[in-house]
Amino acid sequence: MKLAMAFFSIALALPAYAGLGQRRGLWRPGTTIRINVLKSTPADIACLRNAAEVYRGIVPVTFQFNARPPGLRQRLGSFADQVTLTVRRPEHSRDYLGHSYVGNMTFFKEAMMVTLDPQACNAAGRRIIVHELGHLLGLHHEHQHPDVPAFITLQYQWNMNAPADQLNPIARGSDLARAMYITPYDVLSVMHYEFIYGPAQAALFTEDLLPLSQGTMFLANSTLSEGDVALLREMY
Ligand SMILES: [Zn+2]
Repeated sequence: MKLAMAFFSIALALPAYAGLGQRRGLWRPGTTIRINVLKSTPADIACLRNAAEVYRGIVPVTFQFNARPPGLRQRLGSFADQVTLTVRRPEHSRDYLGHSYVGNMTFFKEAMMVTLDPQACNAAGRRIIVHELGHLLGLHHEHQHPDVPAFITLQYQWNMNAPADQLNPIARGSDLARAMYITPYDVLSVMHYEFIYGPAQAALFTEDLLPLSQGTMFLANSTLSEGDVALLREMY
């Protein structure tokens, strides 16, 4: 009961903005971020360009996805472009992995990977694209927010393969926290991982979670939340 009350107060405090974003390594306004895309089809490029549209007018940078024929031109592209992105295919229906460097920290060496369905630019693929581009812009994981509810953190300790430094909450007052813009916790952030919730939590989050849920699994957002937009505007 005490626990439920704690969730309740968090839910009541949920504001319309969100997140964790680093202060260093932000892209200079006006930058065209050139991304050398490996192993892609024209449909992948179309999906990448389409999903990246959510950042237009929100951040003062643009994404350019460059698909080059394999071989020398692609290898040279890895030197010409600041970022290299590899496309992979899902091996089963829930296999939508991705990764990205966070921010512009490594001169001309940022690397990314996204999983895209070869047949469809679906919600899972769009989510990966928007999430990984969020990292590239300097956003950290929302489920690592100091105020993330404990029931969310606990389940990652047994059902996720990602390393602990990408799962566990960042402590308030730590060096890492001081290096970030921290706006209030937002469960709808595209930077939040999926999680399972029970009846006690459903009552608290129903309104926010149900549209993005399948049963008791919150599938996570596939576009920027209002909170993500507000945080990006503060960062840039
Ligand atoms: Zn991530």
